[in-house]
Amino acid sequence: MGKCMIIGCGGVASVAIHKCCQNSEVFEGIMIASRTKSKCDALKEKLQPTTKTVIETAQVNADNVDELIALIEAYKPDVVLNLALPYQDLTIMDACLATKTHYVDTANYEPLDTAKFEYKWQWAYRERFEKAGITALLGSGFDPGVTGVFSAYAMKHHFDEINYIDILDCNGGDHGYPFATNFNPEINIREVSAKGSYIEDGKWIETEPMEIKRVYNFKGVGEKDMYLLHHEELESLALNIKGIKRIRFFMTFGQSYLTHLKCLENVGMTSIEPIMYEGKEIVPLQFLKAVLPDPASLGPRTVGKTNIGCIFRGKKDGKDKTYYLYNICDHQECYKEVGSQAISYTTGVPAMIGAMMIMTGKWNKAGVYNIEEFDPDPFMEALNKWGLPWEEDFNPVLVD
Ligand code: NDP
Repeated sequence: MGKCMIIGCGGVASVAIHKCCQNSEVFEGIMIASRTKSKCDALKEKLQPTTKTVIETAQVNADNVDELIALIEAYKPDVVLNLALPYQDLTIMDACLATKTHYVDTANYEPLDTAKFEYKWQWAYRERFEKAGITALLGSGFDPGVTGVFSAYAMKHHFDEINYIDILDCNGGDHGYPFATNFNPEINIREVSAKGSYIEDGKWIETEPMEIKRVYNFKGVGEKDMYLLHHEELESLALNIKGIKRIRFFMTFGQSYLTHLKCLENVGMTSIEPIMYEGKEIVPLQFLKAVLPDPASLGPRTVGKTNIGCIFRGKKDGKDKTYYLYNICDHQECYKEVGSQAISYTTGVPAMIGAMMIMTGKWNKAGVYNIEEFDPDPFMEALNKWGLPWEEDFNPVLVD
């Protein structure tokens, strides 16, 4: 069917690459292009004997638009799947525009020096993508990603209007370390140490970090503490889903994680303000990343399950209706299949599916779109097929 260039070769990319290789009918060729080429080559060596997908590798600095353009022009992919870091979103979008190549990512742009993630920078590309006749699919991971597809599916099949959405992200996995993050530590800690926020009646309401706590009993996991966080899909879902009065995002954290995080915050280790150390400027959070376990190394040691989904409340045919859509994913099953834990898996699978939607022409409109703006049905079908089957509950316990 076509060729995909995957940028980045970390935890999420590794899963997406495994999945592309399982799906050779669509992904006839992939190029893995990242900062450290040896990681790309190691994956190629492991996977090429197992797949018909032709794998190529390249070194690229994705902060450099000209380098990206040269590589895209040489390989001529149908789509570029950005699985580097949010800091690279705009340079990769620029290169896609210059070469008229479709673009997919899993996290919205964030400037390196302000831990504030919002869509305005990427939405500003709408007209240019439309004019170029290419698609940018934003946020094709799990959250954002599947949560948006779930919302579009609920809207299409179950509601006339959705008034309340609670997104619940539960990781019941245990890696046995006192403190580690499940994906890129710098991005993860920037996210959880930021102020919380949610949208009510069209307005953002800000909270202190971890100020709002609830307890929820998750199927497949059990009872967990969860905390309200700011999360990027709130911004787009509040605009794209009809009838929204309130939308919130909760993530589970264990007490040990929170105690470590507080301590690291208190001593200044989570700061993104550069400091001078022995004559060299360093960013404390980047130094912390260097001493924490690499998320990719958690795979073999993580046991337990994740349960991520959305509880919708709204109206159908004039009556109140509640609907919960979620996926349960087992860390060890993921590790057996692709050598990664479930956090990378639940992001890497939807990333592959997003690229597939565009390569197969199932999703085909020029411009910059969030994932809930497309027909959810083929994506929902693909989730069941490619390892993230979903479950539904028409009478869930609600979050107060
Ligand atoms: P990792 O840190 O494991 O991987 C990032 C990869 O990008 C690394 O291979 C890194 O190279 C490469 N990279 C970084 N900077 C550059 C650059 N300038 N040029 C080329 N390559 C570069 O991160 P994850 O795999 O955990 O996360 C990947 C993305 O997925 C992030 O944007 C994250 O926010 C997002 N994500 C989304 C989720 C969702 O549900 N939507 C959930 C989890 C993550 P090197 O190997 O040299 O370090």
